[in-house]
Amino acid sequence: MMNVPFYSLDYVNRALGDALRESFSDVLDSKWFIRGNRCREFEEAFAAYCGKKACVGVGNGLDALTLMLKASIILGRMAQGDEVIVPANTFVATVLAVRAAGLVPVLVEPDPETCVLDMSRLADACSAKTRAILTVHLYGRLADMPALCEFARSKGLLVFEDAAQSHGAVFDENNLSSLVSRPSSNAAAYSFYPTKNLGAMGDGGAVVTDDLELAQVVRSLGNYGSVEKYVNQYVGVNSRLDEVQAAVLLAKLPHLDSWNKCRQEIAARYCAEIKNPLVRVTPVPANPKSHVWHVFPVFCETRDDLQKFLKNRGVETLIHYPIPPHLQEAFDGALSRGELRYGPLPIAERLAKTELSIPMGPSMTDNQVSYVIESINAYAR
Ligand SMILES: *Cc1c(COP(=O)(O)O)cnc(C)c1O
Repeated sequence: MMNVPFYSLDYVNRALGDALRESFSDVLDSKWFIRGNRCREFEEAFAAYCGKKACVGVGNGLDALTLMLKASIILGRMAQGDEVIVPANTFVATVLAVRAAGLVPVLVEPDPETCVLDMSRLADACSAKTRAILTVHLYGRLADMPALCEFARSKGLLVFEDAAQSHGAVFDENNLSSLVSRPSSNAAAYSFYPTKNLGAMGDGGAVVTDDLELAQVVRSLGNYGSVEKYVNQYVGVNSRLDEVQAAVLLAKLPHLDSWNKCRQEIAARYCAEIKNPLVRVTPVPANPKSHVWHVFPVFCETRDDLQKFLKNRGVETLIHYPIPPHLQEAFDGALSRGELRYGPLPIAERLAKTELSIPMGPSMTDNQVSYVIESINAYAR
């Protein structure tokens, strides 16, 4: 029997324990904690890493999503009441952000194989009010951005990305200008929640975009809507990336690619070696770099039983996510009030009933990976 935690941050301390302590004490010595040099430096570094012109640090991922949408409304690119297509099987924050911006989420079924937006369903999901697609690179897998952006262009829709689970995922690493996920969308929102592929030591988030006007409005919205101190142009909020978080992110960013590579290697083993007719895995994409495996999901009709079985063998698992947004109490009556729009969502509901996330992350040893595989392969009804 071996104990395999779902996720452990040991790898961070191993890779840069002392460097992080130095980052903290630098911030302490600087006596400057909000809107300082480290935030600026991280914004520049992360924009460059993403191959984009601008990055604006904000307080968390939900705010990044919300402010990105609100800024687009302020700039007249959308209006309150417009519809935004969102995958039905996302984390609730995606839907909350659309609502918080005064927009109407249109929930669309994912492709059951890949769990990201199903391109073949987009056309039917559009109405005269649809203005944008907010795609989610769920579990770390980039949605089919070339197809999505082509569709959006043909319909005159904006494209936004919820990239909270996909830091560092790329279509073509050798050709920055064809990093299709990034230059083709209007903006991407990131979360730096501690357990994300790039995580802070508290809350953090960012909007990354080539649109300098949009970046400017997002920055202003996160700082009370002010353009200069005590001059308020918009009704803003307080949502900023503080210096401690920026310093942590600056120290971690150079390691992100190698950490993602670890995840890809573990995922390749899981995909090749999990062989149980009761357990389905999602495929490695044609370009393995376009998936950074924030989560490794498996699907099983007797999911709760499988979870118990693994727990008894010391393998910790989680469910992402047990209740899809449209079935959350928070959205009771939202459909009839016109605050959400969706038809039947059997695929999203099936995924919620059958998904199980197994241990994944750079802290895992080969032995742990082997043990998880053996355990899943030993499962029988
Ligand atoms: C984590 C996450 C968010 C929210 O990020 P926070 O920083 O926790 O606010 C939004 N969308 C998705 C898909 C996420 O995984």
